[in-house]
Amino acid sequence: MIGGSIAGCAAAVAGSRAGADVTVYERSAAELQDRGFGIVIPPPLHEELVGSGYLDTDMPTAPVGTRVWLTREPGGRSARELARQASPVTPCNWGLLWRSLRASAGGVRYLRGQPVASVRHESAGLAVIASTRGEEAYDVVVGADGHASATRQLLAPGLRPEPAPYMVWRGAIPLGALAGHPRELDLLRGAWVTLGFPGGHGIFYLIPGGPQDGDGSTGASNRLLAYAIYGRPPEGAEPGPYVQELAKEHFPAAWADIVARGGRRATACHPVADVQAPRVARP
Ligand SMILES: Cc1cc2nc3c(=O)[nH]c(=O)nc-3n(C[C@H](O)[C@H](O)[C@H](O)COP(=O)(O)OP(=O)(O)OC[C@H]3O[C@@H](n4cnc5c(N)ncnc54)[C@H](O)[C@@H]3O)c2cc1C
Repeated sequence: MIGGSIAGCAAAVAGSRAGADVTVYERSAAELQDRGFGIVIPPPLHEELVGSGYLDTDMPTAPVGTRVWLTREPGGRSARELARQASPVTPCNWGLLWRSLRASAGGVRYLRGQPVASVRHESAGLAVIASTRGEEAYDVVVGADGHASATRQLLAPGLRPEPAPYMVWRGAIPLGALAGHPRELDLLRGAWVTLGFPGGHGIFYLIPGGPQDGDGSTGASNRLLAYAIYGRPPEGAEPGPYVQELAKEHFPAAWADIVARGGRRATACHPVADVQAPRVARP
């Protein structure tokens, strides 16, 4: 496996169950659990992953059954509810999800701080991986090396992700930021919220906190507010801080305040790209 994140660990579990002797090469030397914020899984997939032993039954989640659509009252700063629908989701903490998959892949050889420099085919049908460990030959190589995958180039040479005309800001905010907003907190305890604005939208949902958050427990009292806001910064604007401007201009006052309290440390800002691979495997 090239890459030891979510896909790499899941494929490592599948491979070792199929009887393979699996090695994971992960470029990063750091703990990946600190990497992410919130990630939403459809409930049937969550059940399947727990049932098949990929995810630990004890991995905390924060399921809700309703989706609420909000926008800003025209001409005002209060929130207006546009719609409410049944929409069950299982929000997770990215770090806890990775940790659970990593634990399920516990028996495999997991090499941290090991970037793969190249992969080449050998005439005997083997694939040879080059890293600082030298060259090692394998029967099967899985490219789980993320959105900018170099392994993908072996299957589709020259294929490049195409930038989308918007970006995403993500945040994870301690619930203290909602102390002055009991109505919003109450809403989030039972629903995930989509907030529309001209040219984009944001989603907000509670996720389980990690051991370092809240009261450190794995129970319902330890929660973070996760958000993902999709929009397009104007020409010349510095993308990172722009999300605060966007929220101030377009969000209902309470939601703008919540995003502002998140601060920049809890925020990440990513470009978004689309890529369509013509094939995903070859002999
Ligand atoms: C905070 C967050 C929230 C998300 N929420 C959702 C969501 O709600 N729903 C959804 O469907 N998706 C979501 N995503 C998108 C997607 O699920 C994640 O990006 C997920 O992490 C993808 O997993 P991955 O293993 O494919 O790639 P990545 O997590 O990007 O991992 C790739 C790994 O490969 C390693 N690597 C790269 N090159 C090499 C190399 N040459 N040698 C060795 N290792 C290498 C990297 O270090 C990295 O660890 C979210 C992503 C993030 C970050």
